[in-house]
Amino acid sequence: MLEGTTAEIRERKALRVNPAKTCQPIGAMYAALGIHKCMPHSHGSQGCCAYHRSHLTRHHKEPIVATTSSFTEGASVFGGLANLKTAFSNIFSIYNPDIVAVHTTCLSEVIGDDIPTIIKKSTVEGIIPEGKIAIHANTPSFVGSHVTGFANQCEAFVKYLSESTGETKNVINLFPGWVEPADMRELKRLATLVGVEFIMTPDTSDVLDSAMDGKYEMYPEGGTTIDDLKAMGDSFLTLAMGPLASTTAATTLEKKCQVPSQVLELPIGVAATDAYLNALRLAGDTSVPRELERERGRLIDMISDMSQYLHKKKVAIFGDPDNLTSMVSFLVEIGMEPAIVVSGTRGKKWEAKIREICKPVNENVEVRSFSDIHYLHQWVKANPVDLLMGNTYGKFVAKSENLPFVRFGFPILDRVGHRAFPTLGYAGGLRIVEKITDAFLDKRDREDADENIELVL
Ligand code: SF4
Repeated sequence: MLEGTTAEIRERKALRVNPAKTCQPIGAMYAALGIHKCMPHSHGSQGCCAYHRSHLTRHHKEPIVATTSSFTEGASVFGGLANLKTAFSNIFSIYNPDIVAVHTTCLSEVIGDDIPTIIKKSTVEGIIPEGKIAIHANTPSFVGSHVTGFANQCEAFVKYLSESTGETKNVINLFPGWVEPADMRELKRLATLVGVEFIMTPDTSDVLDSAMDGKYEMYPEGGTTIDDLKAMGDSFLTLAMGPLASTTAATTLEKKCQVPSQVLELPIGVAATDAYLNALRLAGDTSVPRELERERGRLIDMISDMSQYLHKKKVAIFGDPDNLTSMVSFLVEIGMEPAIVVSGTRGKKWEAKIREICKPVNENVEVRSFSDIHYLHQWVKANPVDLLMGNTYGKFVAKSENLPFVRFGFPILDRVGHRAFPTLGYAGGLRIVEKITDAFLDKRDREDADENIELVL
């Protein structure tokens, strides 16, 4: 399909070909799904909402429920006030959520709809019933990406709901960043093992990977509760994972409720997981249990056993900034050489950070933010690599260049493992090493002459 791609690179300023990102409301929708009994609401036309829902449904293999203001020509010209009021009325009477999280789209942002005022009016007029809540986040998609949309929605939870009673509790806030439900579950497991009491926001585990029990629940049992969102203002510390996805909410909480925060990289690999556990241990004045030391040891053992297949292998990788920072660090940790690193989200500081991480193994790493998969393909053609990592859209590049391919990031539309197995923590590290090694060995099994095929690893 992409065999016609050339190695000759022409700089493009106003065109993205196969972008390495999606639009802001998808992130806001994902974050809202991590709140218990929350209905994500898309204030714009139906097409946006349908696209965002279907993208999340295809990634999580779960039906994603969200509502829309269903703009037509009238709302596009005169504004969406009437549509949003009607939507609130319908949503609360038909679907009965505890909270509606409104996010905007390109269209409602261009019109300039004043959502806080519409929410106030709807509250005064009783359209939003007593005891129910509506909040909003601005997520225009002509700036940012799905990760900034996620960050904006997380900030909205804090802005609207967190409050300080003046009585600090022995609880920490965990902002997990944009990671899979399985990763959120893993972060919680690690915090529980270290013996720390926490509130995780948002928490999509047991919402987007809920158990099949034969009954359909519009609001599964998982998700951060509204009481917990409020109580975040009384915690003594926030650990915010993933600088792009979580810093804004942590800083806003710090300003609003004086809860100090610490920003960490996503705990992918050995050093980043050590840093997460260390932060938990210090916060809780506890110690890391033997069980986790053994897990760490098993990961180190796997890395050393497989190093003959990983050492100095060149990797091209694309995805979201936070996830890339941690994954690239882990690739360096296991002896591989990141050669091309591409993100669709803007970030010059992030580029510098990646160059610094790669310096010990590859000073000439090609790093680009606000770039696309077509550029990545051209760089791969000009400077061949051994492995490609990225979301599902990378498979066309992998096929064209006959490269081993490991799926990583969002969206993964054509595999299911990301639903069940974490990438974070020592357990996640084991899985990443397994996937990378298997990708190399599968290629060899396919291509080696019969007399060279190894039966034993
Ligand atoms: S880019 Fe804008 S118009 Fe397109 S789907 Fe996203 S929000 Fe809607």
